[in-house]
Amino acid sequence: MFGTAGSRAVAGRLTEAGYETVFVGGAVRDHLLGKQPKDIDIATAATPDQVKSLFQSTVDLGTDHGTVLVIQEGEPIEVTTFRTEGTYSDSRRPDDVQFVTSLDEDLKRRDFTVNALAMTFDGAIVDPFGGQRDLAAKTIRAVGQPEERFGEDALRMLRAVRFVATLGFSIDPATEDAIRKLAPALSRLSVERVKAEFDKLFAGGSAADSLRKMTETGLADVLPLFPELPELLAACAPFRSPSDGWASLMAAGRFTPGDVARAYKLSNRERAYLRSVDSLLEVRKHRGYTVDDFYTASLGPLQTAEKLAAALLQQQPASVCELEAALDALPIRSKHDLAVRGEHVIGWGERRPGKWVGDVLDAIEHAVLHRELPNDYDAIKEWYVHEYERED
Ligand code: ATP
Ligand code: MG
Repeated sequence: MFGTAGSRAVAGRLTEAGYETVFVGGAVRDHLLGKQPKDIDIATAATPDQVKSLFQSTVDLGTDHGTVLVIQEGEPIEVTTFRTEGTYSDSRRPDDVQFVTSLDEDLKRRDFTVNALAMTFDGAIVDPFGGQRDLAAKTIRAVGQPEERFGEDALRMLRAVRFVATLGFSIDPATEDAIRKLAPALSRLSVERVKAEFDKLFAGGSAADSLRKMTETGLADVLPLFPELPELLAACAPFRSPSDGWASLMAAGRFTPGDVARAYKLSNRERAYLRSVDSLLEVRKHRGYTVDDFYTASLGPLQTAEKLAAALLQQQPASVCELEAALDALPIRSKHDLAVRGEHVIGWGERRPGKWVGDVLDAIEHAVLHRELPNDYDAIKEWYVHEYERED
């Protein structure tokens, strides 16, 4: 059966109330591909107000665009009223949207045939643009005239290339030609929208093909920051995570963490990941990793740095097992692993608590990490008394 309990309940309720209602978009596409759908979108003939009146718990997600979030059994479900889009004057947002009662009208505004598929509550497929045929042929094809559709919203060009990564599909020649022609319009998009597509691209299994397609079509030339030698970036695919992808883009383009973070508005977490990879990469290029490098790094950045170093230096990378083994071989992984705490240290002498306790713990941490001291309560206490308290 299709959909989660919450999404079925919502679609069932709307259908019963007499509003034509369907599951739509990526969820239907993924279901037909035999994959577990992620977010489930519901489209309905009911207006936002009608949707809100049918359910107890709802949140407005921009009623002017027709999307209401229904919370059903704790599950958030997006319900969007059938709509068409007015003219686009800026290649990024419709000037206005109109609610309509026809599902076909709604499907017409969607980007690609495989994304313009709908499924009723009873499981019937609605497919006015040959989406199922393109699914079988693994083809990304624009709904309607590709140039017109990309002229309306330039993001669709990036989405086409992103679906190469996530679905492993090819782009239909006419659709690809239109991308070549209109690629420069990509520069008008907000960075946030571009970044969201890149995050999905990096997580896709065919990211290398997707990145090559980006270069071939000229999209790469208009992106905020893209390596001059894109082959190096493609060679780093597949990526374990979006952060791994961003770090690879950084290394392949010889950019700094700050360059990439600023150009694509990365989160603080992603920025930290890039910084960690960057410093590990420096270390790896000039000497080997030391105990201190392993201690301060997490496995994620370490794996990324190792992969990038191997690609840049044309060496064999250490395996994940080897990296994990190096981390596991450390006597401690953090201060929390020490056999003693601050209150123990305070209890061992007469001194009042103060900043000195932290300094002592730092010294213990260093000594244990470098195996100058076993991670054992009695041994640490004896060492402390000998080092710090002997003059008392
Ligand atoms: P994913 O599985 O990666 O989420 P998706 O196709 O579901 O892919 P969403 O961004 O979740 O992508 O969008 C849901 C649906 O909304 C799409 O399947 C498509 O029908 C429509 N859509 C999204 N973005 C656009 C766009 N820029 N232009 C036209 N239709 C779009
Ligand atoms: Mg989706």
